[in-house]
Amino acid sequence: MKEFNMGRISTIETMGALDGPGIRTIVFFQGCRLRCLYCHNPDMWDDQGGYEASAEEIAKTVARYKPYYGEKGGVTFSGGEPLVQPEFLLECLKACKAKGVHTTLDTAGYGFGDYDEILDNTDLVILDIKHEEPAAYQRITGCSIDGYLAFKEAVNRKHQAIWLKHVVVPGLTNQSAHIKALKDEIYSFNTISKVELLPYHTMGVTKYEKMGLFYKLSAYPQMDPDKLKELQDSLLRCDINGGLTKK
Ligand code: SF4
Repeated sequence: MKEFNMGRISTIETMGALDGPGIRTIVFFQGCRLRCLYCHNPDMWDDQGGYEASAEEIAKTVARYKPYYGEKGGVTFSGGEPLVQPEFLLECLKACKAKGVHTTLDTAGYGFGDYDEILDNTDLVILDIKHEEPAAYQRITGCSIDGYLAFKEAVNRKHQAIWLKHVVVPGLTNQSAHIKALKDEIYSFNTISKVELLPYHTMGVTKYEKMGLFYKLSAYPQMDPDKLKELQDSLLRCDINGGLTKK
């Protein structure tokens, strides 16, 4: 019988300030079914990689840093894709909540099954929108958009607190028609408090070389931060505390 309180972890980082509100411990789950063209963590694709850990061990590690979390911080479950180990993720969320730790799920929304209990134990979802258009989604991730849409339905139905993010790749996801359609996609979520465009970078390329994998975006340049800021400003204005302002 499968032990739901055991799962595979890639790594755990402490004192992170980028993966959710406040100071956080970030638990990177092993395994992902998507194959995003720009993925900088191909070493986390294999669901048999990493190491085995129990939900209790993880919660104990997370709780050790509780004095640093303050009012906003906590734990972020990231990856890889945490939703490919849904039972283990649920046990981790419950174990951290039991220790009074704020829980964030950093996901592309591409996992298995019924998300309701997972969302009930998640304080904040950070959702990476790969693309709003089915053919482009398939091209970027190698998978159907249906998995993402199922997760989106669950977060909207449950009025889940959510941050949205999107990677902008010059020549792939920076076209004005796409940014306009992305805006519509963003506003189809009902409880957003932050939206962030992320610049495409090539920091993960050496991992592909080491793993003997072909890097399909080698002809694409990195995203210029100033141009990204222009896009972000033109797309929307956002304020974590005051809520998102539609333009
Ligand atoms: S969802 Fe994340 S981990 Fe999975 S392939 Fe895409 S970028 Fe990589």
